[in-house]
Amino acid sequence: MSEWIIDARGGTCPHCEQAFDTLALHWARNQRCTYPELDDSHHETIRGCLLGDGGLDNPNDGPPALRIASVRRPHLTWLHGQLGWLSRGITRDSTGAYRLRTMSHPAFIRYWSWMDGPPASDWTLSRPVARVWYACDGGLEWPGESTQPRAQWTITDDSVRATMQRMLSEVGFEPMEWQRRIALPFDDTAAFLEWLGDPPPGSEYKWTLNRPEYDQLRTKVVED
Ligand SMILES: [Zn+2]
Repeated sequence: MSEWIIDARGGTCPHCEQAFDTLALHWARNQRCTYPELDDSHHETIRGCLLGDGGLDNPNDGPPALRIASVRRPHLTWLHGQLGWLSRGITRDSTGAYRLRTMSHPAFIRYWSWMDGPPASDWTLSRPVARVWYACDGGLEWPGESTQPRAQWTITDDSVRATMQRMLSEVGFEPMEWQRRIALPFDDTAAFLEWLGDPPPGSEYKWTLNRPEYDQLRTKVVED
């Protein structure tokens, strides 16, 4: 069993202010309390994670929980803060990867279908969703001798790649597509990073257009 390095278990319920040991069990069983509703910011972070490396599971047959792993501890610490009371905390496994889990919550049920890819419609790639998605799963590449980078994502599933290409174009960017990948043209890349706003902790390297700085920041965050 890996050790919790950030553990949100135990404390006071944000909903009814009673003390609890395990928040998800408190919500499921306490007759005077129930699951607090998620706010828009929770849903944006969840969507961004599910577009990136996140997934859902329900090992105890209860409501689903979100899990996401990264070698970048500051990145997961940032997501932990974004998820607030919904996050259980972060562990580190024997391979050195950091893992975040949330509480089980019925609000995740609607996201089961996202495990096969995001819906083709009825949602938008808002700036906060795109920021989490890019921080989790996007990156920069300098093709050939280019001095300018392209923002790119590896997306192996054909229909998911088509959906994300369309979602990016709906917010004003025109991605190029290869087999297994989409990328933004050089000018679009700079505009996209500006649109996203400040880099979140642990993803600073993905926001720099300068190659040596990119390599330096990337090495630093992975080794920390
Ligand atoms: Zn409560």
